[in-house]
Amino acid sequence: MTTTDCLFCKIVAGDIPAAKVHETATTFAFRDIGPKAAVHVLVIPKAHHADVAALANADPALAGEVLTAAAAVAEAEGLLDGGFRVIFNTGPYAGQEVFHVHAHVLGGEPLGPMISK
Ligand code: 5GP
Ligand code: ZN
Repeated sequence: MTTTDCLFCKIVAGDIPAAKVHETATTFAFRDIGPKAAVHVLVIPKAHHADVAALANADPALAGEVLTAAAAVAEAEGLLDGGFRVIFNTGPYAGQEVFHVHAHVLGGEPLGPMISK
């Protein structure tokens, strides 16, 4: 996967439209196209990294900026009182489908058990 054929790089570039929620110099947040909760926002670094492990190893400061952006999204979406969940699906067992690291910020209603078995 290169940045030229990466779906989320194309969203950052504005080549594919997305419903923007939050933006900083290094991060971008937009609504998930298939929301799994009342609020479901994806937070990504603008730079391409395949998953959270690759990001944390290559650029820990940027990983922190993604978390700071996720917290800002949670506050802006009114999730702080009720609580929320941040998920980084990573690799096949987690069902990762898009290989540009993204934090799912989920909330706005009770989210149920952490995983289903
Ligand atoms: P993953 O399974 O990789 O953790 O999550 C990928 C997420 O990206 C899914 O929740 C899916 O709904 C979302 N998604 C896939 N394509 C698009 C798109 O073109 N636009 C938006 N906004 N979300 C997308
Ligand atoms: Zn990318």
